Amino acid sequence: MADCIFCKIAAKEIPATVVYEDQLVLAFKDLEPQAPFHALVIPKKHIESVGTLTPEDKELAGHIMCEVIPAIAKENKLDNGFRVVANTGEDGGQTVKHLHFHVLGGRSMQWPPG
Ligand code: C5P
Repeated sequence: MADCIFCKIAAKEIPATVVYEDQLVLAFKDLEPQAPFHALVIPKKHIESVGTLTPEDKELAGHIMCEVIPAIAKENKLDNGFRVVANTGEDGGQTVKHLHFHVLGGRSMQWPPG
């Protein structure tokens, strides 16, 4: 999508610190980290949010959850735990309208979130 900042990062038109990449997915360090480790995992194809995922995205979503995020956690030694967050839509606090999973670790997290 032309005006999507994460599409531009996926296309390498905007630089990012990449922590994982394959044909379908890119993960990069968040510019404003909220924990010692904070990466964003995005599909390379534009999907707006968890709210617009469809059954056609099952394989991609499963790949992210079952392979990519565990690999990132292992690679970055988040052995004591980590948090995966997908802010979704306005009430969910989503500011970038390209599906992304925050992976936060390296400190103890609090609950509930704000
Ligand atoms: O969940 P939400 O949409 O609010 O998260 C967007 C995230 O994208 C923020 O954590 C922000 O710091 C990050 N961001 C980034 N690089 C950009 C634009 C936003 O890491 N160029």
